[in-house]
Amino acid sequence: SPPKSPSQKNRSRTKREYDYKSDAARKVEMIAKSRDERRQRQADEKAIRNQIIHLEQNNPNWEFAQMIHEFRNSLDFRPLRDGDPVIENQISVCVRKRPINDKERRRKEVDVISVRTKNQLIVHEPKQKVDLTKYLENQQFRFDYVFDDTCENELVYRFTAKPLVKTIFEGGMATCFAYGQTGSGKTHTMGGEFKGKQQNFKNGIYGLVAQDVFRLLSHPKYIKNNYIVSASFFEIYGKLVFDLLAKKQRLRVLEDGKQQVQVVGLTERVVAKVEHVFELIQKGSLERTSGQTSANSNSSRSHAVFQIILRKSGSRHVAGKFSLIDLAGNERGADNNKSNRQTRIEGADINKSLLALKECIRALGRKGLICLFVKELIASDNLDDVQNTIPEDEIAEENMDIDEELARAEEKRLQISSLEWELRESQRHV
Ligand code: ADP
Ligand code: MG
Repeated sequence: SPPKSPSQKNRSRTKREYDYKSDAARKVEMIAKSRDERRQRQADEKAIRNQIIHLEQNNPNWEFAQMIHEFRNSLDFRPLRDGDPVIENQISVCVRKRPINDKERRRKEVDVISVRTKNQLIVHEPKQKVDLTKYLENQQFRFDYVFDDTCENELVYRFTAKPLVKTIFEGGMATCFAYGQTGSGKTHTMGGEFKGKQQNFKNGIYGLVAQDVFRLLSHPKYIKNNYIVSASFFEIYGKLVFDLLAKKQRLRVLEDGKQQVQVVGLTERVVAKVEHVFELIQKGSLERTSGQTSANSNSSRSHAVFQIILRKSGSRHVAGKFSLIDLAGNERGADNNKSNRQTRIEGADINKSLLALKECIRALGRKGLICLFVKELIASDNLDDVQNTIPEDEIAEENMDIDEELARAEEKRLQISSLEWELRESQRHV
């Protein structure tokens, strides 16, 4: 054949490249498509399942179930997708809905939450008029992200804790809290999915952060810092602190000369590879739940704090720290009515400490949030002390932007409070 002219050559190469590119692009598209289809299928199957269960005539809640079902049919659902952009905020508040469990299904409880879009959910609140006519009050809430009950830990991680990993490589202190009622899935999210009694520590937020930390260590941008990674794991139970990496040894919390709160004697293990972190997570998690009658009873009444710390080689100075916190379940006073005095005091203590935490988050913008949090949990008997910790004018002086940040945080806090209230109300009616 005659020699090709340069333009022909170019054309054929361009075509080959084009084929190659479109091949790869097509593969990615197909993966994304099958993923989306899978999730859609799961959602459809679930909808059918729910319908069958809820529409049983002997279900005392069937009228509400039917109303919710009809309302859902009228909605245009556009849930979060894998490829959606991750927005980075100073504070991010996200909600994860867990699937209805077997016990709830047996009790014919109604699923009153619809996740409509990636940042909106609807609470269907069952109501009754004076003439006993039943109706729904549908309340919409907006968050930074809302994860529906088909989302897995990896997806939740990608939109929440993952963007914070690089923060600690750049001298920052990052904190991620799991907040919610007992049984809502905090430990499942933070520690990893349960398969029976076994927990897969690799796919919890702790494990996923650890994997990304080790990945970033060798990133060209950070490799020259020669970071040493270490980890600690402790538990706050009432006013007591226990080291989960040292057989639950009791620790004291003191303020040092620089007014920094220190957990004295806390074990900090240097970790050379990610497998070591998984081992520590497993060890601490078992320590947290062992020796208790019910796997969930005592551990859900304490806050667990897992920390990953970066130091530059040869330095004692903390260069970055990620604190991952599985909070104690926030309890409704009404649920504890029949419990003994100790349990009720514990419940009140937990709620008080969670309120202190909210105050701390409001005051975000100041450094050392976690230190402040630990300090207030342990040292403060009086909520007024907590509120008075940070004088408003001091905050204003420090940074004008903080006002705006505070307003935004306050708005988010109000959103959470009203959602909680709604959930409580709807539980009362269902
Ligand atoms: P918490 O720590 O908030 O008290 P857990 O994480 O222990 O709650 O979860 C309670 C139960 O619900 C566990 O058996 C867990 O496996 C299950 N669970 C929680 N979230 C999910 C989810 N998103 N998908 C499937 N099961 C879940
Ligand atoms: Mg738990």
